Amino acid sequence: MTVTDTEYQAIKNNDKRYDNIFWYAVKSTKIFCRPSCLSRLPKKENIKTYYTKEDAVHDGYRPCKRCQPLGKSVSDEEWVKEIDTILLQNFWQRLTLEELSYLARGSESHLRHTYKAVAGITPQKRLMDIRLNIVKKKLLETDFTVKEIAEGVGMENVGYFIRKFREYYGDSPLQFRLKNTNSAK
Ligand SMILES: [Zn+2]
Repeated sequence: MTVTDTEYQAIKNNDKRYDNIFWYAVKSTKIFCRPSCLSRLPKKENIKTYYTKEDAVHDGYRPCKRCQPLGKSVSDEEWVKEIDTILLQNFWQRLTLEELSYLARGSESHLRHTYKAVAGITPQKRLMDIRLNIVKKKLLETDFTVKEIAEGVGMENVGYFIRKFREYYGDSPLQFRLKNTNSAK
């Protein structure tokens, strides 16, 4: 159902009186919440309301980590899996820890701590791994410039991008492309 004005007000005011009366799902993040959830207010057009939480689950929405609409907490391992999915779906845009914690519905410090504890690396490191893996492919399989490739993976600062690439692979992106495309021929 589309959100009504009353429901939207309830969400905006984190109104506990509406908890267990309806739940709201956010289409852009695929997460659903209780009205009282303290997470950032989504855009109205992104909200879908439900009158049973089972319907939200049935439609593929995941329970919010913060307000836990299913009443039990998501395990850390499950949460880290969700974060990985979010990283894979959003690596192409500029993705700060703040933005990531919004998408994953948890505080920045809790996210960083939990992720590191479960995955053994920081979420930023995972994001860099994902990006540079894609970059490597694009360097070898396309004619895009280094700048275009950097921007395509959400890294607008090309200097920083080149530095990171060198850290990982020992060569600059251009050297990497030259070396590996020549030897392939
Ligand atoms: Zn929530």
